[in-house]
Amino acid sequence: MNPSCPNCGSLNVRLKPLATRACGGVGAVTGGVTAATAGTTGAAIGTAICPGLGTAIGGLAGVIAGLLTGALGGAAVGHAIDRKIVQAYHCNDCGHEFAA
Ligand SMILES: [Zn+2]
Repeated sequence: MNPSCPNCGSLNVRLKPLATRACGGVGAVTGGVTAATAGTTGAAIGTAICPGLGTAIGGLAGVIAGLLTGALGGAAVGHAIDRKIVQAYHCNDCGHEFAA
């Protein structure tokens, strides 16, 4: 439920994704660290299944999974912070920016 604009009274306002972006970035970095670990794990599993090709595919799959998990997790946390804590809104009608 969005608040109305205190300047023009419009309900056409949107939540500014400040923390969503910040945390998504942090999450991607965290995911990068996770990805390095997951890549190593994936490579080990791949090696066990099929040495050579399996090592490469397993490592790559691990890295991708780590990056996605980190970025998505970070963005989800950031979105919750935006909704509950930051609550910075932008009015699409008059351009006024306000806190709920
Ligand atoms: Zn407005």
